[in-house]
Amino acid sequence: MFNISKPGVSAARIAVIGGGVVGLSIAWRLGQQGLAVAVFEAGACGREASWAAAGMLAAQIETEPTEEGLLPLARESQRLWPDFAVELERATGIAVGFRDEGTMMVALTRDDAEKLRFTHDLHRRMDLPISWLSAAEVLAREPHLNPRLSGGLFSPLDGQVDNRLVAQALVAACRKAGCDIRENSPVDGVEIVDGRVTGLQLHRPDQDPIFHPADIVVMAAGAWSRGIKGLPARSRLPVRPVKGQMLALRMDPAAPLLRHVVWAPNCYLVPRRDGRLIVGATTEERGFDRTQTAGGMLALLDGAWRALPGIEELAVDEFWCGFRPGSRDDLPILGMSDTEGLILATGHHRNGILLTPITAQTIVAAIVSGRIPELIRPFALDRFQAAAVSA
Ligand SMILES: Cc1cc2nc3c(=O)[nH]c(=O)nc-3n(C[C@H](O)[C@H](O)[C@H](O)COP(=O)(O)OP(=O)(O)OC[C@H]3O[C@@H](n4cnc5c(N)ncnc54)[C@H](O)[C@@H]3O)c2cc1C
Repeated sequence: MFNISKPGVSAARIAVIGGGVVGLSIAWRLGQQGLAVAVFEAGACGREASWAAAGMLAAQIETEPTEEGLLPLARESQRLWPDFAVELERATGIAVGFRDEGTMMVALTRDDAEKLRFTHDLHRRMDLPISWLSAAEVLAREPHLNPRLSGGLFSPLDGQVDNRLVAQALVAACRKAGCDIRENSPVDGVEIVDGRVTGLQLHRPDQDPIFHPADIVVMAAGAWSRGIKGLPARSRLPVRPVKGQMLALRMDPAAPLLRHVVWAPNCYLVPRRDGRLIVGATTEERGFDRTQTAGGMLALLDGAWRALPGIEELAVDEFWCGFRPGSRDDLPILGMSDTEGLILATGHHRNGILLTPITAQTIVAAIVSGRIPELIRPFALDRFQAAAVSA
């Protein structure tokens, strides 16, 4: 494996493709170490998936049987979040809405309760600190939930952050740390000579691209990562957009209908301190289609109303959609590639906000030391190459 510390990472010119939470957090940490970093963002920073997300930090309760491999990385990132939030707030003066009241998952019918008990068995096998609540215990915590519900789970370690504020704070923190943030600067491709990165080709409308030299390029273009040109076939990233529609209702911040993040059978509900109640989200394989559909809104409102009937009275504040960067196995792609100088930080799918602190920490450690931290070894791109060879 190549070692970037030779001839010296301190003199390296680092370019990050993508100004979402992933690219920005890596740039911030590199800038804090006095390294020369430029972030190239096609539009405005933090306005794609990082803006569309619900901001749940759900390392434990969201665990699905196919995603057990993510658990150590997700739990470590969750452990880092409280300090990460404080550090961001101190650096920028922007409070990022970190909340740790815990998260509930509720069953509305007896069938739902059966399914939830099955999920809870999985949690127990993984030794996750999640407890079963009777209907009365759920309602004692959240009295506005449907009074006919049949039970629920409580995960004290899962919480939330306001992802839009996180992105805003990261831009400010990057600037303070001396990073060069270039918005409205789409990257056409990565320039590679003799298996080594030499820079980026920056897109210019109606003109030839312009070359920007770089010794290290961090690929953090989220759902668009596959479209960046110039990579050899073996480094092509198996990342696709997974569309999610979401809406926000407006509660009275002085008398919110909910305090915890709540997962109901067909939606989740995320109450913000400013009174917004986020209702999410659809999961759709529609490419980069930004259509916001009546069906999407109907499904979300129906799911939310069954769990929390009082939403009927609330104003609809906003309706939007975004693209989760989903890899072929829905796990992130992290670490070095076969191309010297090309670092990968993409494919965070539905957990990119949760995984931001650990992604920044491990990718920066890899860049500075030239060695891949143990925790991200399972997420190397070559897991897909190995699968292709054995198929
Ligand atoms: C509806 C929805 C709900 C979600 N809820 C949660 C949640 O509750 N918790 C959680 O942890 N995660 C959640 N996620 C997932 C999370 O939002 C993503 O995993 C995370 O934001 C990915 O960050 P990113 O920086 O990789 O991508 P993005 O934020 O999409 O950033 C990538 C950036 O790259 C830029 N870019 C693209 N192409 C180019 C180019 N050619 N040149 C330069 N720049 C380029 C884009 O403009 C974009 O700004 C949710 C996602 C969605 C869509």
